[in-house]
Amino acid sequence: MSHLPEDQLSIAEALAAARSHGVARLDAQLMLAALLDRPRSWLIAHDEEPLDQTQGAVFAHWLTRRRDGEPLAYLLGEKEFHGLMLRLDPSVLIPRPETELLVDWGLRVLEARPSGSAGCRVIDLGTGSGAIALSIKHDCQTAEVTAVDASPTALAVAGRNSQALNLPITLARGSWWDAVPDQCFDLALANPPYIAAGDDHLAALRHEPQSALIALENGLADLDRIIAGAPVHLAAGGWLLLEHGHDQATWVRQRLAVSGFTDVQTLRDLAGIERCTGGRALPATTSAFRVVSPAV
Ligand code: GLN
Repeated sequence: MSHLPEDQLSIAEALAAARSHGVARLDAQLMLAALLDRPRSWLIAHDEEPLDQTQGAVFAHWLTRRRDGEPLAYLLGEKEFHGLMLRLDPSVLIPRPETELLVDWGLRVLEARPSGSAGCRVIDLGTGSGAIALSIKHDCQTAEVTAVDASPTALAVAGRNSQALNLPITLARGSWWDAVPDQCFDLALANPPYIAAGDDHLAALRHEPQSALIALENGLADLDRIIAGAPVHLAAGGWLLLEHGHDQATWVRQRLAVSGFTDVQTLRDLAGIERCTGGRALPATTSAFRVVSPAV
């Protein structure tokens, strides 16, 4: 329940109401910026301006939902990722900044190809909002990008983002590699579910689709399925790049190595946590692992 008067609330009063609801000032400013279709700087300079009745009512509703822990991205229906503004809803995971590390790694892999990225076949397994697939397509227009998800509602969100951003990608429905039988790729990326059921973090993530967060076998089941299926779906020398949990890098490196991947390596995120691990689909010639920091 909100105690806000719903007519002629000024911006300053709206911010004060947010404060009394325990909603962060930045979140409240971003809600008001979206409602009034103005930049935050405008709000600060015009805090005596009134909200109309509809804006006041929506703001009151959003404050209550935000106070109850609903993520701002779901209230606003959008989230910026790798420079793209993605539309989203609660059927898809909210893209995280850490996942931009995976995208940047994928882009470096494409740039390093002797023939460039022209015609390069890229797949994003478990695409959700389409964040990874669309970011790769945006920065590498000549690549042929496929986005896979088991959820038809998630694929619909990815499809709408693809159209809105004018970034053509192929959508395929199915569980991991099952969605693309007989197809082969030069680069595969995935941010699969990797949190163990019962993990303490899940309480804070209760508004997001649990199927995008939780994996069986202590969080490793989907990483395992993706690695197991990769060799027959990757061209020789093709890369598989995976995001994973903070304590899963060693397991992923070993799993890749025993599956015949070479050049197995891990990148740390900006918090210094081992976050992404990948390797190339070639007969393993070395068992040496490398842990490297993100390029500056
Ligand atoms: N990185 C997300 C989190 O811990 C989880 C994403 C995932 O499971 N792929 O909030």
